[in-house]
Amino acid sequence: MVLSTFHDEEHRLDYEGFCCPGCGQSMVTLAQMQAYSSARDLKRSKPTKAKITKMGRGVGVVLPSWVKELGFEAGRDVEVSVIELRCIQLELLSPEPKR
Ligand SMILES: [Zn+2]
Repeated sequence: MVLSTFHDEEHRLDYEGFCCPGCGQSMVTLAQMQAYSSARDLKRSKPTKAKITKMGRGVGVVLPSWVKELGFEAGRDVEVSVIELRCIQLELLSPEPKR
């Protein structure tokens, strides 16, 4: 079994599991299943409001603390891109550091 990343199209969610390189059969451990289900619950949570504030020459937003559960911790690098004119995306650039 090899550690793999799967994609849940319905919930637009990537999650970890194991995949057999021989037959392609996949399985998830209890811990991986719990990580998946808490990430899915986070995706279902209500949108949180925040305010854009001036920070030096740029602007910043204080993200709600629950984003840390998704790996958005202080010091991580993100890529900012435009989804729509009123919607931007923050994407973690590197995989979560091992703890
Ligand atoms: Zn197999």
